[in-house]
Parts: sequence; structure tokens; C-alpha cells
Amino acid sequence: MTNRRVRVRFAPSPTGALHIGGVRTALYNYLFARQNDGDFLLRIEDTDSNRFVPGAEEYIVESFKWLGLSFDEGVGVGGKNGPYRQSERRDIYKQYVNILLESNKAYIAFDTPEELEKKRTEIANFQYDASTRMKMRNSLTLSKEDVSALIASGTNYVVRFKIEPGEEIHVNDLIRGEVVINSSILDDKVLYKSADELPTYHLANIVDDHLMDISHVIRGEEWLPSAPLHVLLYRAFGWENTMPAFAHLPLLLKPEGNGKLSKRDGDRLGFPVFPLEWHDPKSGEVSSGYRESGYLPEAVVNFLALLGWNPGNDQELMSLEELTRLFSLEHCSKSGAKFDYKKGIWFNHEYILMKPDEEIAKLFVPVLEEHGVDAPFDKVITVVGMMKNRVSFVRELWDAASFFFVAPLAYDEKTVQKRWKEDSSQCMTELMQVLAGIDDFGIENQEKIVMDWIASKGYHTGNIMNAFRLTLVGEGKGPHMFDISWLLGKEETLSRMQRAIEILK
Ligand code: GLU
Repeated sequence: MTNRRVRVRFAPSPTGALHIGGVRTALYNYLFARQNDGDFLLRIEDTDSNRFVPGAEEYIVESFKWLGLSFDEGVGVGGKNGPYRQSERRDIYKQYVNILLESNKAYIAFDTPEELEKKRTEIANFQYDASTRMKMRNSLTLSKEDVSALIASGTNYVVRFKIEPGEEIHVNDLIRGEVVINSSILDDKVLYKSADELPTYHLANIVDDHLMDISHVIRGEEWLPSAPLHVLLYRAFGWENTMPAFAHLPLLLKPEGNGKLSKRDGDRLGFPVFPLEWHDPKSGEVSSGYRESGYLPEAVVNFLALLGWNPGNDQELMSLEELTRLFSLEHCSKSGAKFDYKKGIWFNHEYILMKPDEEIAKLFVPVLEEHGVDAPFDKVITVVGMMKNRVSFVRELWDAASFFFVAPLAYDEKTVQKRWKEDSSQCMTELMQVLAGIDDFGIENQEKIVMDWIASKGYHTGNIMNAFRLTLVGEGKGPHMFDISWLLGKEETLSRMQRAIEILK
């Protein structure tokens, strides 16, 4: 179909926290829609009432808000093709079920679970299909009167799709190429259940994709086996000409590459598999999220974009705008993508570096507050600028840089043993006098005066600097020595030195 407006949808079922693979699927849909000036829809597929989990829909909506991926239509947004929650579309599905029934493309089946179980024991590899349907209790084998009477008496039934055997079904997948299967292997899928008056996934999904004029179905590879059935449904409705194009995305694999990524892998190796922290309402279990673990949304988006796609070269850092420009389904891989969570940490580091210090400082302020520190914002910005190249997460700035905000209470024993020499107290007392006499406490001036003093005394620069660092930081780490003393200021520098001399002498 040329000239068709690009309209794609993300269609999660609210059965719990949104898995990170689902986030990637949504991201690819988003990029494809934006690139083509199309529409991106959010449809909630909540027709399986047994699997419905309260809070899951809100979780999904909040996840995309955090990630900065916006929808044009759908739950939380509205639009002219609503409602976008399938549980609110019962009447619509009913109509389309009736169309299939009236045209004999579907039939009503009364077989109870017990009867089906019995058949399974009687017939090897039993499947409800052309070879068995005439042996079952359905509207093909019962009289019209019996069927009406059963329905009138409130007997539960399902509507099954009548699949004609021996037909080749072609699915043209934009990523995997042409997939051909024979209809004989398919069973007469249940499309509707009278018990809850709800359609099953297959029917609701096809009807909605059609009514919402979806042009491309981009989804996880686990749905590929459903695609032939969906093609048959489009045909049964006579909608072949507006059938969406399919693109099935490769699986996300365990970091080691063997098998599908699961929540257990995250627990085992210590990384989140959900965008936001999730509190399971039933079990009470709490699962970690990328947001709460300190990832920047831009880093998560960039990381996920490259799990199954690449721009055709080795460029890795790309903003959402760049991703939108460069994305293509043709460059999506057919084979699964290893979930290299360490790469995700690397992306977070890179985004911390790329972001303005002020922005990172804003994120660091709450961490400081947690530790009871209330520092001038300018100072926080300066510390961030000095220290951010050392961390992958904002909260790690505390470990790396807390000495800028709180004086050491104790002195690291190993460092003391190695770096506090016989004459250190004496030297530091002298250095205090030198520093006290400096008016311009700027980095360069301080450094020059101290270095001149060291030279004039014939002291060992390393020994002096190590002892000096120990007095201010409490251990052997930190950035350039005079960056520290400059930022602490003269008064604080001298008081820390004084204290260290008293304690360590
Ligand atoms: N509701 C399905 C899911 O949870 C949608 C699959 C599709 O995109 O067709 O993933």
C-alpha cells in the first residue's frame, strides 16, 4: 500500500510490570511513527480478565512518560478511534463475531472443558480443527433448534474460527522476509467466549488494528506464530487490502546469550528488567526499575534502541531525534539481541557526562539531602563538574565526593600507615601557615605558592601532597589536590588540617 499514512500501535496487556522487551517494542514503534510523520497509539489489551492486574495500566502510562515517548492517540491521550481499552469495546467485537458467524467463517461450540479433555485422551494429538470438528458439540453438528435452545438456556459457549485446511498462508515480514505455513497445522482458534462476553486476543487485536487503521504491526517475535492466523482473519473479513505490514522483532536474550531474558536474570546479575519499580499487588514482591536504580531515561532509550537494531555503522550515542532520523526496520536484526546490561551502565555514564553539570546537580541534591547535607547549589554544580567522569550513577557521586561536603570523621588506616610519615605533623603545621598567608586562594595561585615553599624547603612533593590529601579527604582518593582545597575554601581547609594533625600526631 503506497501513500498510506503510517499508524502503529503499542498494545500491551496489563498483566503486571511492563517487561523491558516490551519497552523496546514500543520504542521501535515510536521511532518508526515519528520518522514517517505518522501516529503512535497506545491500546490496552485487557480482554483476558483472568490475567488482569490492577495498577498495570497506570504503570505502563507512567513508564512512557518517564522515558519521554509520547503517544498521539490512545489510553491517557484520547483520540477519534476510541475507546482504546479493549474491555470497553465489547459491543464492537460482538458485531464482528456475528459477521463471521453469519458468513459461516466461524461457528459456535459448546464443548465443556471436561469434554475436550476426554477427546484428548481418545484421540492422539487432538486438535480442534477440520479433522475433528464434526465429532464435537457445535453449531456444525447440532441442529439449529438445539443451538438456539442451548444458548437460550444460558449454556456457555465459545465461537471458533473455521479454518479451511490445506491452504498456504504467506506472511510477509519486513524483518524476517516471507514466512509460509500450511493452514492444516492451525486449530480452530477460539475468538469469543460467552462466559465473559469478551473476545480473545486474536479477534480483538485484528478488529482493532483494522478499525484503528493500523499500517504496520511491529511487535515481539513471540507473536510471529499468530501471524498466519491473523492473515486468515483479515481475509475472512475481506480486509486483505488494508492489512498492516508485519515486522517481528528479535528476542532479547540473556546476557550470556543462551535463551530468553527473564526477570530471574536481572535478579541473578543485579540489573532491572522493568522501566519503573514494580510493587506486585498480589505477592507484595517489589521488583527494581531503571528509574529507581538511577538510570537516565535518555540512556535507557539509547541502550534499548541498539538491542536489535544498529544504524549501519558503529555509532552508539544517539539522541531520540537522531534515532528517529536513523531508525529503519531493514536494519533490525533477525537474530536475538544479547541483553548486555553492562552496556546499559556505560550508556548511563556517557549521558551523565553529556548532560550539563547543572542538570546532574539537580539530581544529586536529593542524594545530598538524604545524607543531611544542605549545600549551596553552585558548589554542588562545581563538585559535579569535577567528579562526574568517575561515576556511572548520580548516587555514586556521594561516595566519590562526599568529602567536599562533610569533613572526614576518621582517617583511613591503610592510607595513614602508608602516607602519614614521621614528619607529616610538622610539615602540615608549616603548610597551614603557608596557606593561611595566601590571599588569593584560587587553584593556580595556591599551587604556585605551595610548590615554591616545598622547593625552598627541599621537601618531597609526593609526601607533602599525600599528607595534605589525607587531612582534607580522610583517605587517598579525590581529584587534583588544589581543586579540593580551593573548593573547600581557606577556612575549612585549615580547620580540617588542624583536626587531622591533632588526631594523627
Ligand atoms: N497484547 C499483546 C501483547 O501483550 C499484543 C501483541 C501485538 O502487538 O499484536 O503483547
